[in-house]
Amino acid sequence: MAEAAAPAPIEINDAYFCQHFKEVCADCSYDGREENDTFFGFDPIDREGLEAPASSQNKEGVYQCKKHGSPACNQCYGWKKQITRARAAAKKAGKKSS
Ligand SMILES: [Zn+2]
Ligand SMILES: [Zn+2]
Repeated sequence: MAEAAAPAPIEINDAYFCQHFKEVCADCSYDGREENDTFFGFDPIDREGLEAPASSQNKEGVYQCKKHGSPACNQCYGWKKQITRARAAAKKAGKKSS
């Protein structure tokens, strides 16, 4: 049945999100942190998931930010910076890696 199939993740400027534009989503049991961390050259850790800003698909089906209409927007889709920030916050908050 189509409804039972896990929704395919969407790709926004090289990072993966669920169809709700979340990197970690309870609604569809999606967690793209490991994939995204690895892609951007980090060791995956337990950190806060990213959320993509308002986006829409262009004619080619590529996601672009609504604010600037750019599929590779540095401001909206600056994932490496955002992951770095989330990792720093996670390390500061916890260090409970058991
Ligand atoms: Zn979701
Ligand atoms: Zn933008």
